[in-house]
Amino acid sequence: MTPPPPPLIDRYARAITYLRLSVTDRCDLRCAYCMPERMQFLPRAEVLTLEELYCAARAFMARGVRKIRLTGGEPLVRRDMIELVRALGRHVGGELDELTLTTNGTRLAEFADDLAAAGVRRINVSLDTRDRARFAALTRRDQVDAVLAGIAAARAAGIAVKINTVALKDINEDEIADLIGWAHGQGHDVTLIEVMPLGDIGADRFDHYLPLDAVRRELEARWTLVPTTATSGGPARYVDIAETGGRLGFITPLTGNFCAGCNRVRLTATGQLYLCLGGEAHVDLRAALRSDDPEAALNAAFARAMGEKPERHGFAIDGPGAAAAVARHMSVTGG
Ligand code: SAM
Ligand code: SF4
Repeated sequence: MTPPPPPLIDRYARAITYLRLSVTDRCDLRCAYCMPERMQFLPRAEVLTLEELYCAARAFMARGVRKIRLTGGEPLVRRDMIELVRALGRHVGGELDELTLTTNGTRLAEFADDLAAAGVRRINVSLDTRDRARFAALTRRDQVDAVLAGIAAARAAGIAVKINTVALKDINEDEIADLIGWAHGQGHDVTLIEVMPLGDIGADRFDHYLPLDAVRRELEARWTLVPTTATSGGPARYVDIAETGGRLGFITPLTGNFCAGCNRVRLTATGQLYLCLGGEAHVDLRAALRSDDPEAALNAAFARAMGEKPERHGFAIDGPGAAAAVARHMSVTGG
């Protein structure tokens, strides 16, 4: 009998238990901080098939991964995506503690019931503004109604929704508290995110970079923020807001480093295993999956990957005109 493959433990003794799996780099929105209007997407021929994505996910599960987040690009624009959700959903309660996804919500109304039936219990929906004109300007698409309907549909299907909001100076800065109040009123937690310097967007990110310590001070003037040790297995730090009864997370890659407890890796839709969102280190799993002896090739690739996972990311937004820290867009690596 062949011995089970070794668990994924990197050279800093961090166990990798969380996979973010990008099922496509394509998207139906064009959020200004994420990608340019004329985004160059990966050639379809290079993208892993559904079967390959599933095989890759199983290889991770066999090596100790217990949580998978499907992402992209926009995961729900990939046509056969729900089949993958169903296949992976069968492992929830066994090898997987959780199967979840991050979505922009535009197609959620259509898929909410199927996702719930497949075993998805929680999802993250990205929403930076509820204002129609602002949403259209920021995402370059007039879709806020579809997103709000998607959030309501998810809720009605019994899926817990967490709202992810990128804090953006002069764009949604004045709306963040209202957005939190609305979300908590609907029973949704919220996580705020600092904009990260990933990929060329044809504009200077420093113009809209808003450090979350400033946002937090503003919120503290309005509400009582009670720190909690709660964790969702990701990099967010949480507080409970006494007045709203809801939870608020802060993801601060730039103002507060969270790498010491990193437990995750990211697989792109073309099978490139990135060891850190903020670094170039990666290993080609597609070649391993397509080799004559996939098991041996995967073992070798994973061993190499664990040796290459960096201790921490190298992000910084130093000032106006700073170049992207990483050339890849978030939509390629999988947010
Ligand atoms: N399309 C889906 C969505 O928007 O939720 C999933 C992929 S998207 C790349 C995942 C998350 O990354 C979203 O919450 C988005 O706001 C965030 N994001 C994209 N580019 C970012 C950047 N440069 N800095 C910080 N967050 C970013
Ligand atoms: Fe698409 Fe998500 Fe990027 Fe917005 S953040 S353009 S929804 S991938």
